[in-house]
Amino acid sequence: MTIESLLPIPDIFSAKRILCIQPHYDDNDIAAGGILTQLAKNGAELFYLTATNDLMGIVDTSLSDEEAANALKRDQFAAGKIVGVKEQSWCGYPDAGDYNYFDLRPDFLKHIRMFKPDFVFAPDAWLTYEGHRDHIQTGLAAAEAVMFAGLTKIASSDPEVDSGYEGHSIQGIALYFTREPNTIADVTSTWEEKIAAVKCYKAQFDPEGMEQLVFALDMKSQQVAQGQSFTRGEPLKVLHPRALHCGI
Ligand SMILES: [Zn+2]
Repeated sequence: MTIESLLPIPDIFSAKRILCIQPHYDDNDIAAGGILTQLAKNGAELFYLTATNDLMGIVDTSLSDEEAANALKRDQFAAGKIVGVKEQSWCGYPDAGDYNYFDLRPDFLKHIRMFKPDFVFAPDAWLTYEGHRDHIQTGLAAAEAVMFAGLTKIASSDPEVDSGYEGHSIQGIALYFTREPNTIADVTSTWEEKIAAVKCYKAQFDPEGMEQLVFALDMKSQQVAQGQSFTRGEPLKVLHPRALHCGI
């Protein structure tokens, strides 16, 4: 027995049902659109859950909140078609607003107990120099919901879901937007689809902003693939749920 054999890095390529929890409409696709497209092609079902209403980053500020929400959803569905997302859900908390971590966790628990994913994707809450609370709170609440999904004394936001939940096994959590990856996913073959999906988010990026984002993603994907046998990568920290507590 070795220490590594106790908690091996979970194999994301074995994933069959993936819940991707994101702060804003575009984070899953920007950070992990390549690997998620690949996993969908491999037969995994993708469920996206968006924590906030994302209304603060709208380019056209003349839109009403309702019009902006429609534009965001239009973009998200277009991107989801390319990536292969099966279902989109939203919590609707105010973007960059006054909500807290304990608001998010019951909603995330509900969706984990409802969809019964074998893998969860979420932002890395421990990313150094992450200043956006939506990202930190979403990442933390997602990690804790993964750890606590089986503890049914911890209530979700839906008693009906809790009463019908009999537990299930979550193999791992894949943290994206991370500076400490233990997995570089080969996304060479799905890069075009990832970029096409990111370019759908027109309500949040003007043409110049989109050009800069695509350039940055392009450079980063090649940088993280250096030394690998492929040319484009997405960095992930993939952890067994037990590895999320106490570091042993
Ligand atoms: Zn975001």
